[in-house]
Amino acid sequence: MAESIIDNERAGAVHLSTAELQRYSRHLIMPEVTAEGQKRLKAARVLCIGAGGLGSPAAVYLAAAGVGRLGIVDFDKVDLTNLQRQILHGTKDVGRGKLESARDRLGDINPETEIKLHDCRFSSENAEEIVDGYDVVVDGSDNFATRYLSNDVCVFARKPNIYGSVFRFEGQTTVFAPHLGGPCYRCLFPEPPPPDSVPNCAQAGVLGVLPGIIGMLQAIETIKLIIGVGEPLIGRLVHFDALKVHFRELRLRRDSQCPVCGENPTIFAPIDYDQFCGARETGTVPEISVHELKRKIDARETFELIDVREPFEFEIARINGATLIPLGEIAEHADELKREQPIVVHCHSGRRSAQAVRLLLQRGFTNVYNLEGGIDAWSDQIDPGVPKY
Ligand SMILES: [Zn+2]
Repeated sequence: MAESIIDNERAGAVHLSTAELQRYSRHLIMPEVTAEGQKRLKAARVLCIGAGGLGSPAAVYLAAAGVGRLGIVDFDKVDLTNLQRQILHGTKDVGRGKLESARDRLGDINPETEIKLHDCRFSSENAEEIVDGYDVVVDGSDNFATRYLSNDVCVFARKPNIYGSVFRFEGQTTVFAPHLGGPCYRCLFPEPPPPDSVPNCAQAGVLGVLPGIIGMLQAIETIKLIIGVGEPLIGRLVHFDALKVHFRELRLRRDSQCPVCGENPTIFAPIDYDQFCGARETGTVPEISVHELKRKIDARETFELIDVREPFEFEIARINGATLIPLGEIAEHADELKREQPIVVHCHSGRRSAQAVRLLLQRGFTNVYNLEGGIDAWSDQIDPGVPKY
């Protein structure tokens, strides 16, 4: 049986009121939990990175279970497209900060839990300070830069990092805790994938229930570590395929050459993760804002607007006047584009169009611009009548 990550002294200093004994009675009657385990939960401080698809179910169940302090880092606002899976937020919350709706929802589920809000992007500058106030981190992020950051900071601080990720109908979870055995995220993935090679949920979609399952597994692993029961998912990764209803378990190995948890580590402090993951590459192409595009259209300037999304996306939403050439077909159609007039390229969020702009620049085009933020920003800032998806 595992040991609790909450030491006896801290758990012993906690008191459960009559109302709490009642609230948690279904826990207390289990011999694996009892009042002792419930006190450990109350003494525990858990940080959720992100109040999105994974963070929502994890936070809901961790608060309901009686975790003493639940921290949430997020800077986003609730969008209508979030509600299909991000169960912390409701229709009335659209446009509000995710932290505000998380505070309301979690406070209603369990007023005994202290909800601590970190209204910021989890970054190299603030990550160590934030994690310092917690015993365990639930990584509900949706990008590689944040995953590496969360991993590294947890390895430095010797705190478990409960990993989860989802993609369409599949998800996976594991517990990274080299100080308790097992590997870290970098042991598995020493290098991030090339930028733009792995589509995110906004590009590839995700079944709404899927992050629910993975986020709840993350909550279960967190609670097991706190109470000190069962076999934690350390050194094991669970992969779930919703279409086949298959749970597969993969053994994970620690890499002795790992730069953060290996025998001779070379990284001792947070690095520049955006640069490491190449996330800044989109900034290296010439860009224009949606406001500048609006100005060009209103001024009836001569230019070509190319939409490099897929036809089904074009059916959902489009900017008037745009010509559809999916990214995969840009190369073969490049010669048909007029070189003498400016070309503005857009996609959903600005990532695929940046690739298209790079390709056209390589082909000798000089007057090509990426639309920053894509049609998503257009819909947010210029024309709310253009549907978001
Ligand atoms: Zn490692």
